[in-house]
Amino acid sequence: MALSIALLRTMAARLGLAAPIQLVAASLLVSGCNTGVSPPDPACPGCNVVLISMDTLRADHVGTYGYGLRNTTPNIDALATESVLFENAISQSSWTRPAHMSIFTGLYPSEHGYKALRDRARLPSEVPTLAGVLGKSGYQTAAFTGGVNVAAAFGFDNGFETYRTNGKYFRDNLEDTKFWFEQEMSEPFFLFWHGYDAHTPYLTDPVDRLSLELAESPPKRGLRSFCQKMRDSPRVRRYKAEYDGAIHRGDRYVGKLVAYLKERGLLDRTLIVFLSDHGEEFLEHDRCFHLTTLYREVLHVPLLFVGPGIEPRRIPDTIPGSVTVAPTILDLVGIRDHALPGPSLAQFIAGGRSDVGLAVSETERSEEHGQGKGHVRSLTTADAKYIEWTTRDETAYFDSTNDPNETNPLGDSADAKPLAKQLATWLELHPRRVGDAGKAAAATPEDKELESQLRSLGYMD
Ligand SMILES: [Zn+2]
Repeated sequence: MALSIALLRTMAARLGLAAPIQLVAASLLVSGCNTGVSPPDPACPGCNVVLISMDTLRADHVGTYGYGLRNTTPNIDALATESVLFENAISQSSWTRPAHMSIFTGLYPSEHGYKALRDRARLPSEVPTLAGVLGKSGYQTAAFTGGVNVAAAFGFDNGFETYRTNGKYFRDNLEDTKFWFEQEMSEPFFLFWHGYDAHTPYLTDPVDRLSLELAESPPKRGLRSFCQKMRDSPRVRRYKAEYDGAIHRGDRYVGKLVAYLKERGLLDRTLIVFLSDHGEEFLEHDRCFHLTTLYREVLHVPLLFVGPGIEPRRIPDTIPGSVTVAPTILDLVGIRDHALPGPSLAQFIAGGRSDVGLAVSETERSEEHGQGKGHVRSLTTADAKYIEWTTRDETAYFDSTNDPNETNPLGDSADAKPLAKQLATWLELHPRRVGDAGKAAAATPEDKELESQLRSLGYMD
């Protein structure tokens, strides 16, 4: 890939590099890097920004990403017809807190440090965030979220004027969001809208069950409880159906928000970004839920950009990570002078040649009581996937061209060695930048409340 010297210098400065050889290394290691062409004119200068995150939505259960079993996402599919859609977006983590940290800061988990449930410290206010940059650029900033792992207590409210949670699902925040538009909003604005709609416990309304022809009532036992007792793939289909119903419910509320923006006449000057933070697993690799592993079913997420000045197209090859979201949004609305790292996708959205890049993802789940397998990290490239369980000294390597679902680990194949080296070099270039994300477990009322909320989403059992 041919990167301009100026771009290399910028990247090197951000990475703290100087030597030419390291510049070359950086050019090979930055995911989604630009192609040496000057940044495109902003697609939507000064536009409002609406960032919608439907939690736990794996890409292969979205209609426009090829899901054909049920019509789960008619509203997202309609949005996709007007969007630049990245077909191969890979999350930086398999659970909510680290993935959203990467979305908001442009930092990888190795840099921001949030990987495990115990990493509960508040993000220092000096770390630049998307909301902070937009706020300083004159945007009014507001968020309506499902809380818990995107709670203000972790610093997700940094840079926001308004950060409210009325419940876990999109529906719980819809009326308050409308109230904000009617009473408080001024343009330009940045709205972050988040809901745990596709997260356990899967919630459906009768209309979702009727639309998707689901069983009359959901299974009595929850997904994780079922999987702990039974590793029965045919029977897990009932839970996949419930998951689809929950996605359908979330999709209806995405549709309601977009319709409301249209009704207020905002769509001709608003950039809408739709994404998810991670996927969900249904015994593909012997587990259910998410958080513990880094296989494709928990990392492959939808990512689309819609707005004035954006010509619809699908981009199949580029591998954008969560870290690309914030710098891309800033590029698209014309804010170029900011401190957020992470490569921007604006060049590709403007029609430039797509480079493939790579994605590095991380998570950590305690090995106690068989909950997890410790610290895990992975490297996703165009034709391969490499996973390391660092606390167990285990690795796996997959040929993604012939085995996209990662069912046949190739173990210690010699082909894995260059990937292991590539990941090690990448990690050297992406050291920790934020202070200790961990916090000694203190039994404060806030911690107890957090644990109760985490349990309600299935994280602590
Ligand atoms: Zn999540």
